[in-house]
Amino acid sequence: SVPAIMGSNVVDVDAAKIRGAGSNVHFDKVSVAYGALVVLHPLTLDIAPGEILAMIGPSGSGKTTALRAVAGFVKPASGRIRIGTTDVTDLPPYERGLGMVVQNYALFPHMRVEDNVAFGLRAQRADKALIAERVKDALATVGMSGFSRRYPRELSGGQQQRVAIARALAVRPRVLLLDEPLSALDAQIRRNMVEEIAKLHRDLPGLTVLYVTHDQTEALTLADKIAIMRDGRVSSHGPTVDLYRRPPNRFTAEFLGRAN
Ligand code: ADP
Repeated sequence: SVPAIMGSNVVDVDAAKIRGAGSNVHFDKVSVAYGALVVLHPLTLDIAPGEILAMIGPSGSGKTTALRAVAGFVKPASGRIRIGTTDVTDLPPYERGLGMVVQNYALFPHMRVEDNVAFGLRAQRADKALIAERVKDALATVGMSGFSRRYPRELSGGQQQRVAIARALAVRPRVLLLDEPLSALDAQIRRNMVEEIAKLHRDLPGLTVLYVTHDQTEALTLADKIAIMRDGRVSSHGPTVDLYRRPPNRFTAEFLGRAN
């Protein structure tokens, strides 16, 4: 059955609790190559504080690579990445102040929901009381308060993905990276989750989000701005409404389903 929507379960989360609320993410001429294959051509792009930027485009266009460069899992061949005033280009992933959720994000199957959510905090050696408070807040934020003692196998796919989001939020990230977070879910649950992510973002207004998807509908529904990727380059970038109403080129029009 479809899990209850977070809706009324959402507690009021104090946005100021989100560490570094309001950080921008800046790509400054970032290029990435795998051996001789250049998959990201010098990319300059800014995600404003608190903005949801959807990066969309066909498979292989470099979206995941761009996200992984922000996460620190891919080293740029050139260029710099800044989060707020911090140049993170040479920082290890766990020092970047990020939360990340990817497609098929496997929760640790042998751990209860609460221990999954606590994982990043324990890795940071946070103290017990703080961990308990953060886990409680994060689960409330995604409407999963009643599920802390369950194991992942006792949850639906949508619920598991909400726990994955709670785990990402528990460390109070400056920036949330979402890489096809809904692709593994079926259509109805995916639609619900899109609404839930929109609501989550309204409840955490300072949270900057990079949302990678190949799904135009998700992007059009959620994003303040859209960057359309093509062959390792940004083909167009702008406010969602503008791109949809006045696609600057045919590729954009086709990708947004606006071509006649
Ligand atoms: P997207 O997310 O838009 O589908 P990716 O960023 O995953 O695109 O991939 C961009 C290009 O980089 C593709 O051609 C892909 O095959 C290539 N690529 C991605 N990861 C690797 C890797 N680890 N080694 C070699 N090539 C890779």
